[in-house]
Amino acid sequence: MDCVFCKIIAGQIPCSKVYEDDNVLAFMDINPLAEYHTLVIPKEHFEFLWDCPAELSAAIGSALPKISRAVQKASGSDGCNVLNNNASAAGQAVPHIHFHIIPRFENDGVFT
Ligand code: 5GP
Ligand code: ZN
Repeated sequence: MDCVFCKIIAGQIPCSKVYEDDNVLAFMDINPLAEYHTLVIPKEHFEFLWDCPAELSAAIGSALPKISRAVQKASGSDGCNVLNNNASAAGQAVPHIHFHIIPRFENDGVFT
């Protein structure tokens, strides 16, 4: 499987890990839009959110609040965006489900 995130899960590519449980891994984005920009991925490979089975979706849904709270605390941000891009039309570059947690500050201009 030629998937960069599967290689990270397998330990073949290093990452800066911030959270891990049986189903989910979170690590720092290599090209962050803001400091502490974090990616949350399921450990099992699915390309699109609509492919994700209910139990795995629940595991991701359970992990996201915990990880976003940790990102919020570490970054001291005023808020955050949680984004999931599906397919190239929506800006997906890596074909493995992932959620961006992007710390935001008032008037930071990261997104308009
Ligand atoms: P997408 O555009 O698919 O929603 O976002 C993919 C994200 O994965 C990008 O923000 C990009 O910087 C990040 N990314 C791509 N390759 C790697 C990698 O090898 N390591 C890490 N930590 N992040 C990566
Ligand atoms: Zn993968």
